[in-house]
Amino acid sequence: MASQLQEPEQATFVETALKLSGKSDDEAKRTGALDRADEQVEAMFAKKYQTAGSPVHRAVWDDKFPIELFVVPEPTVPPECQKVMDASLEVVLRHVREKTLLNEQRKIADSVLRELGDVGYWGLLVDREFGGSAAPFMAFARFLRQMATVDPTVAGLASVHGCIGAVDPVRAFGSPSQKENHLPKLASGQRLSAFALTEPCAGSDLTALKTEAKLEGDHYVVNGEKLFITNAIAGRTIGLVCLIDKKPAVLIADLPDQENDEFQTKRYGLYALKHSYNNGLVFKNFKVPKDNLLDAGRGDGLTIAYHGLNRGRVALCANAAGTMRAMLANMLPWARFRKTYAAAIETRELVRRRCGRMAAMIVACDALVDWCSWQLDAGFRGEMECIIAKIFGSECQKEAAIELFMKTHGGRAFLHGHLFGDNVHEFLAPCIYEGEGEMLGMAFLKSLIKEHGTKYYEPIGKAMAAAGIKNPNAVTPGTLWAIRGALWPYASWRLKQLLGAASKPVIPSDGPNKLREHAEWAAGQLQKSRMAVDGLMQKFKLGLADRQCSMAELSARIQDQVVILVTALWAARRNDELIHAAADVLCQDLRRKLTGARPSSSYFKTVTKLGEAIAAGGFSAIAGIDENEILMPYG
Ligand SMILES: Cc1cc2nc3c(=O)[nH]c(=O)nc-3n(C[C@H](O)[C@H](O)[C@H](O)COP(=O)(O)OP(=O)(O)OC[C@H]3O[C@@H](n4cnc5c(N)ncnc54)[C@H](O)[C@@H]3O)c2cc1C
Repeated sequence: MASQLQEPEQATFVETALKLSGKSDDEAKRTGALDRADEQVEAMFAKKYQTAGSPVHRAVWDDKFPIELFVVPEPTVPPECQKVMDASLEVVLRHVREKTLLNEQRKIADSVLRELGDVGYWGLLVDREFGGSAAPFMAFARFLRQMATVDPTVAGLASVHGCIGAVDPVRAFGSPSQKENHLPKLASGQRLSAFALTEPCAGSDLTALKTEAKLEGDHYVVNGEKLFITNAIAGRTIGLVCLIDKKPAVLIADLPDQENDEFQTKRYGLYALKHSYNNGLVFKNFKVPKDNLLDAGRGDGLTIAYHGLNRGRVALCANAAGTMRAMLANMLPWARFRKTYAAAIETRELVRRRCGRMAAMIVACDALVDWCSWQLDAGFRGEMECIIAKIFGSECQKEAAIELFMKTHGGRAFLHGHLFGDNVHEFLAPCIYEGEGEMLGMAFLKSLIKEHGTKYYEPIGKAMAAAGIKNPNAVTPGTLWAIRGALWPYASWRLKQLLGAASKPVIPSDGPNKLREHAEWAAGQLQKSRMAVDGLMQKFKLGLADRQCSMAELSARIQDQVVILVTALWAARRNDELIHAAADVLCQDLRRKLTGARPSSSYFKTVTKLGEAIAAGGFSAIAGIDENEILMPYG
């Protein structure tokens, strides 16, 4: 299908590398198309805010560690946004308590969606001039976390609507008249929205898109099929990714109120996101006004799709932080109630360790959510940082559900009506949607190596090709001489590193020493990791793209170092000993994972003491969360 995509004007770094490595034109073109979309998103940001200026990129490649980009200020929530948030929580809490949240199909009821619209929920991310309340993203993300403790589906729908749905594409790419036309209805909730990208043959591989739109008079006529689209039913407004003149584009499409010959939903049984609609969409000569085509500037439809995904990824991590709070709040009463061998299981080390570990993951997700959303508010693109939040949040939620929550509840975890049994698929699916974790991990590493590769490796590759050197490993004095001009900048960079270019980061003095020590260690590792990245590039050269296991492994290591740094610095600024202890546990866990060390007795003491304090009710993060009744209690 790559032949359906527009011919590139100029090969990208990735495309050039793939071609030089002997990949087929088709594979190089497909991968190049995604790389180009990525570059076009980059071009929308001022240099300072592009990937190469981002905290993670600079932490690895800059000689002076940018510690200021890891210390997150407290958010301010404008009073009008706070009012909307409080009222929205009140609506959902009331419906949960009155058991009226779901309709007869067990989906969030229309009446709830309408009431939320009345109090301004759907307009939180819409500008004031169009009827929204323009919440800073950091305030929005923290609020989603709170909403997820009450109902994760309602929280998820705010992200589907505001981050990946139609709101972000229209705000970022809409013309004044498109904004005027769509945003007020999206803000009020008169039109709720979804984003339709995935197709039966195009999920991880977005170059395989087939849905097409052809201009006929004043309308685009759409034919094709979408799959797995959340919140997509008749009457919604969708960002529809389709091919126009063989190039990906986004149409803002108002789906009709009733299905008809042109538009139909395809239903299937889906375990995940069961309280929201998720459907396939089938279009047969479906008409969309030509004015509804978004202008991606120098980019295309994938540029628009990529733009909203970063917000969605942070929202996903916030949702995980809220969902894990609900799990922990429901673990404690059970652990207190359940007695085995004449003592409550809350007194046992294994159970206390689980409570401590759960708190550690909650604190780390909170830190990542604040850090990423602060960057997005500051104007950063945030690609690598939001990928970390997405992967870490979804993996934590999976571990929390299975290793901590399910195990602590024993057989009752599988009863109908149990938070685990009823929601196990909800807890796992975030590892897949908005990008499967390992695929994203590779995208993370590609972003990290791109500038270094373009600056140093690409000229060498081109010089070798020009000199007719086919095998990059067969280096002789003659070949070195032939490419000396291209080799020199890299050789001087490498020499500088060997002489010790990396700096020793200066860590702020807030908080306990142990957190400062974790932060210092992680920052030092990040500085050292540039040699590991360069080493990988040197070792595999043009074949690196095929070394997925090595790429994924190094990517995960760097991500873990970032999580340690962000969590330690974030927790150190909080005046709460349990948060300090939880952050310490998280940092110790990740450091052991990175170094291969065994846990020490002192670690076990720290994590079980933390679990004991949490069981005693000391963890403010879970205060006020409604607990579910204990199933099958015994006398
Ligand atoms: C609950 C739910 C909600 C969703 N909501 C939406 C939505 O609102 N809008 C929307 O557009 N989409 C949505 N999706 C789709 C989702 O984004 C895709 O499922 C996801 O991107 C993966 O695509 P896929 O399912 O086609 O997996 P595939 O493309 O079939 O890939 C399967 C797996 O193969 C592996 N793989 C694939 N390619 C490679 C490669 N080159 N190298 C190594 N490994 C590879 C990866 O592990 C990958 O996860 C949703 C999905 C779910 C489950």
